[in-house]
Formats: sequence, structure tokens, C-alpha cells
Amino acid sequence: MSSALETLHRDFGGDIIEPGAAQYASVRSSVLVPGSPAYVLRPKDVPDVQAAVRFAAAAGLPLSVRGGGHAFAGFGTNDDGIVIDLGNLATVELTGGHRVRIGGGATWGQVAAVLAPHGLAISSGDTKSVGVGGLTLSGGIGWKVRKYGLALDSVLEAEVVTAAGDVVRAKAGEHPDLFWAIRGGGGNFGIVTAFEFAAHPTTDVFYGRITFPASEVTAVLHGWADHLRTAPEELTSIASFANPFAGGPDAPVEIHVVFDGDDAALAARAIDPIRGLGTVLDDDVALTPYEDTLVDGVTPPPGIRLVTRSAFVDGASVPDVLRILAEVGAAPGSPFIALRSVGGAVARVPADATAYAHRRAELMFATTVAGPAPVVAAVGPALEGIWHRLTPHVSGAYANFLASATDDDVAAVYPAGTRQRLAAVKRRYDPGNLFTGNHNIRPL
Ligand SMILES: Cc1cc2nc3c(=O)[nH]c(=O)nc-3n(C[C@H](O)[C@H](O)[C@H](O)COP(=O)(O)OP(=O)(O)OC[C@H]3O[C@@H](n4cnc5c(N)ncnc54)[C@H](O)[C@@H]3O)c2cc1C
Repeated sequence: MSSALETLHRDFGGDIIEPGAAQYASVRSSVLVPGSPAYVLRPKDVPDVQAAVRFAAAAGLPLSVRGGGHAFAGFGTNDDGIVIDLGNLATVELTGGHRVRIGGGATWGQVAAVLAPHGLAISSGDTKSVGVGGLTLSGGIGWKVRKYGLALDSVLEAEVVTAAGDVVRAKAGEHPDLFWAIRGGGGNFGIVTAFEFAAHPTTDVFYGRITFPASEVTAVLHGWADHLRTAPEELTSIASFANPFAGGPDAPVEIHVVFDGDDAALAARAIDPIRGLGTVLDDDVALTPYEDTLVDGVTPPPGIRLVTRSAFVDGASVPDVLRILAEVGAAPGSPFIALRSVGGAVARVPADATAYAHRRAELMFATTVAGPAPVVAAVGPALEGIWHRLTPHVSGAYANFLASATDDDVAAVYPAGTRQRLAAVKRRYDPGNLFTGNHNIRPL
């Protein structure tokens, strides 16, 4: 250990932050989960990342890699281990045409700020502070997902530091197995120090929220899903309800929309059928710079836990799932429920082209419970009951909306065929399973 530390001090030019240091309090935890790591390493360039990875391998301590630090499962920190925090690798640069090189520790807010003046965007997520790394490596369901697909569908290549500390380039003609695996397989295969994305031109977009009374939830949800099935792919939408901070079972049903375009007539044609689904309480849809559709992330107060669980729904099961979720949302103590439409461009990519395994789903939804640990524990049995009802009608899980990482979770994220193929890639690039702070693919 002491020689590993000596080598680190010799080869590493970034910050080495240990308990007791002034900066420690601000870097020890991830956004949603507290931690007490023994070392937080903040590399300033790729050779630093290589040195940090070699130190972690030699030290034999648990390793967490932190991008934007937003994983619900708290993958970006640990107790008594090593955190490699990529926050200083956040450069965003246009490299020609619509190609954008993005550091592995950048956030989507940083990306949008650079791309907006050029009239460009990458379909990513809905929150500025979420990291490009975590969101992209496991999917990326953003405000233009039906038109441009997942965030990972726009990745052209990636620069990766493997478990051995080597730098490799992963793209279609170079390390194609790794390129396949990092598009859906999470942080299992190495540290992505830079992504190259294809951005797309964007205008201002129609963005906002249309709300309906809770009593109309059944009709609104079914009508919403039916409309999204045939709506133009410029329309992407999230339906949410039972928000405990807005009245729980009495909270309005919120339909959030983005119409990707600035033609008011086309936008109205796509959005008006949603307005006709019930009694509109509020409608603030307006032409908005795409950059402004991303909201600031909120860090929960200390002691508040968030338990998020997700699944996918295929077309035939949509009515059953919506019926159950509407009933759940109408009962006191319901989790917050949010559904995202994920058809369109996502479904057009061949199923085996990337390691993201849920391309045929029509909807992805998540339930979220938030509160102090005893409160969250108390609702645990009821939540299990809800998911027990849903299980026959849903499949898989979206890794980015999961607060746990059990074997069952990993099996839900990666169906058997995908998992076997990922394990073969893992054996090649991380045979000792150094990168475990994720929905872990074991090499064997
Ligand atoms: C407020 C909020 C809003 C969200 N909105 C959306 C949304 O609209 N759409 C959506 O799809 N998801 C969304 N998510 C989920 C989000 O995609 C996940 O939480 C994701 O894991 C966050 O990535 P991160 O880099 O911020 O997190 P981190 O915790 O830093 O990383 C998550 C995982 O990725 C790994 N990782 C991160 N960067 C790298 C890298 N450069 N190289 C290798 N491994 C890396 C980490 O080791 C870890 O395993 C949201 C989450 C929150 C909390």
C-alpha cells in the first residue's frame, strides 16, 4: 500500500484529498448518497486518470468512479475506498461539423451552454447537473429521445482508460466490442475520459406542462399513451402524478412535453390532442430555447433518501400497467410515478447494435419514494406490494433509474444474452473486476 501511495504521489498531478483536508467535506459524498472514502482523487488529465486507476488496482480498496455524481444507487462514493472524481475533465469542444468532444466528467448543463450558441444540441436528459458519463453509458432518455434516440445513440467514439491503465479508443472500427459494451453497459469497462458525440441542429422548442385534475388520471394516462403511439417523433413527453409534494393522491396529473421545432402550427397539431384529454388546469407550453428545457438539479437535504425503481412496458401491456398505476396513485402513501414515452428513434436501432437491451419498449416508468430512512423503510412493504402487482406486465429495468444494485437488478437491466456478451468484454478489459461501482457485470 505504501509503495502504491508513493507511486501515486510521483505520477499523479491532480488533487489527492483525504479525510481531514479542507476540501474533503465538499467531495466525500455523491449527490444523493453520503460517503466516507479514504481518498478522493481528482485527475486533471488522462495520464492522471491512468495513475489513479493503477493506484486503485494496487491498493486493493473499493473503487468508485464519479462523473456527475447523480446515480440513485450512490455509485459515485463509498466508505473507506477510493473515489476517482472526473469533475475536472469537463471540456466541451466542437471539433468540426457537428462533432463534439466532451470530457468524461462534464455535465449536460455544461454541454448545452457550449452547443446553444451554435444552434446545436444532443438529446440527453432533463437536468443540467446530471453527468454526461453516467447518463450516456447506461442510456440517456432525454427531451428529444423519440426523434434522436438515446444519448448513447449519438456517441461516435470514446477514449477509455482500462483497468490496466491503458488508453484505448473505442469506435466502430477500433475495439468494436468495447464500443458496443460502453453503450448500455455502464461504467463496467473502464473510465471514459472523453466522448465524441454527433450533435444535431436545434431551433427553439415548444416546452411546458399541461395539468389535469387527479380524478381524471385514468382517462388522461390512457389517452396520452394512445396519442404518443402515433404522434410525430418531434413530440417527446413525460406523464407524472401522485407527487407527494403537491398533494399525493390529489396532486394534478402533469403532462410535460417538448415539441422539437419552432413551427407553432405543427406543434399545436402534435400537442392539442393532449389538451383534449380532460379538464386542463394549467398549460404553460411556450417556445423556449432548448438549453432552457434543462432544469437545475436539486440536492436533497442530508438524511433524505430517494428510492427509485423502474421498468419497461411493451405495447400490449400498456393498458394493464396504466390501470394499475392509476389505482396506485389514487391511494394515500403512493410513490411518485413518472412515465416516459421511449418509442420512435430508440426502437429503430437494431436490438444488438448496443448493449442497451430495451429498445422495443413503448414506455419506461419509475416510482420514487423520498424521505428520512425510517419513513422510506416503513413504506417498503407497500412498495413491494405495488411492484408485485406490476411484475406480470412489465419487463427489465432502466439502470439510470434504480436506487439499488442487487443481482436481480443486474438481471433486469441486462437480459441473459446481453449479460453474457458483456461478461466476455469485461474479461478482456477488466478481468479482475476493478470497476464494481455500477450494475456490475462479473467477468466470470
Ligand atoms: C435529478 C435527476 C434527473 C435525472 N434525469 C434523467 C433524465 O432525464 N434522463 C435519464 O436518462 N436519466 C436521468 N437521470 C438518471 C441519471 O442518468 C443517472 O443518475 C446517471 O447515473 C447519472 O450520471 P452521473 O454521471 O451524474 O452519475 P455518477 O453517479 O457519477 O455515475 C453513474 C455511474 O456511471 C459511472 N460513470 C460516470 N461517468 C463515467 C465515466 N466518464 N467513465 C466511466 N464510468 C462513469 C459511475 O462510475 C457510476 O457507475 C436523472 C437523475 C437525477 C438524480
